[in-house]
Amino acid sequence: MDSRYRDPEIETAARHTLVRLQETRLREQVRHAYRATAFYRRKLDAARVKPADLRTLADLARLPFTTKDELKASQADHPLWGDFLAVPFEDCMRIHMTSATTGRSLAVLDTPDDWNAFARCYARSLYAFGVRKRDMVMPAFSYGPWIGYWGGFHAAQELGALVFPAGGFSTDQRIDALLNYPITVLGCTPSYALFIAEQAAKKGIDLATQARIRVTWHTGEPGASIPATKAKIEAAFGAKAYDLPGLTEIAAWGFECDARAGLTHVHEDACYPEVLDEQDRPVKPDETGELVLTSLYRKAMPLVRYRTRDIVRLSDRRCPCGRTLVAFEGGVLARLDDMKKVRGIVVYPRRIEELVRPHDGVDEFQLVFRRVDGLDDILVSVDPSPRLSERERAGLVATLADALRVGLGIRVSVEAVEPGSLPRWEHKARRVKDERTDVPF
Ligand SMILES: [Zn+2]
Repeated sequence: MDSRYRDPEIETAARHTLVRLQETRLREQVRHAYRATAFYRRKLDAARVKPADLRTLADLARLPFTTKDELKASQADHPLWGDFLAVPFEDCMRIHMTSATTGRSLAVLDTPDDWNAFARCYARSLYAFGVRKRDMVMPAFSYGPWIGYWGGFHAAQELGALVFPAGGFSTDQRIDALLNYPITVLGCTPSYALFIAEQAAKKGIDLATQARIRVTWHTGEPGASIPATKAKIEAAFGAKAYDLPGLTEIAAWGFECDARAGLTHVHEDACYPEVLDEQDRPVKPDETGELVLTSLYRKAMPLVRYRTRDIVRLSDRRCPCGRTLVAFEGGVLARLDDMKKVRGIVVYPRRIEELVRPHDGVDEFQLVFRRVDGLDDILVSVDPSPRLSERERAGLVATLADALRVGLGIRVSVEAVEPGSLPRWEHKARRVKDERTDVPF
């Protein structure tokens, strides 16, 4: 039998071994960032710290945070790459861009070594899902500057698996390939997984029985860590679904494992995680906070204490898989940028997805934050399965309204639209609209 771990010396390392490795890499990264970029010289000088002040992991708290807004401002002020590019431009190998919901995308560059380290983390994640050399892998992300496709493609290749590059394929072509080739592993956003299954079902194809997929992995959105969404994907493909959270700017930083214990491990040799409360103090185990990551390997754009805006819960239990890496309960629980306030109550779209997905007759949904007669309201539109009768649709609307009222603690409006009329998503879904021009806090 083959090993459960791809890199046992890292994945099951004693804490003191990992700490030693992290401290060495951290010191090197901060020295490099300071020496090579005006961006970090400015920030560290303003905070009155020198790279030499950083001796242990605890000293990291003295360093300033880095935000995405700062990086965007730097690229706007110093086109095209900003003043945080820390290697000669000709040493870079590919442009990746973050998917921007507002404003300009951030352009991220890597050296070949940076990229190899990124792909190795990704490969370690796929291995933890059970992907092996004997598998045939289809990364069904778009071929372009979004990192999802490249990560999946190179990681599968790194494992020695046979890769089916489907970046330029339409959904119909991908379904066709899933039926005609022995593809056992599929990677895509969770929204797209549900879409591809729905499209297949429309043609009378049941991918769970007619395709050979045994593992699916999902990135770009937190859906695969939402139990009801994961269950829906697993039923549609007759496979095990895994969540792979990552950030273009930092790393494919986390992975679920085959123990399926609800934990997301962190590639601690590639990025050092801090989980901080609202006062920027480290949280205790079993508490939630914002994930702040420092890259331990990237040389082209080394980021120090990068605020991810992702909320995670630090686990206080050991995963049955035996990995010693830091783990979070249930992946990314919320994105600070997605937070909405409705009549004084904080609402995260992920929470609404958790409440909507368990209902069988919902094929797709959309959220509109709006104002009705001067009052905040959420309109949840559901796209019902075409097999529901008129009466079953009305029943679904009433059940959902109830579940959302109880789950969110506020009354929301629910409607059923014509089956098939809401948009479907090939990449990251955009299910949320906020029509309110000003937010009354
Ligand atoms: Zn585990």
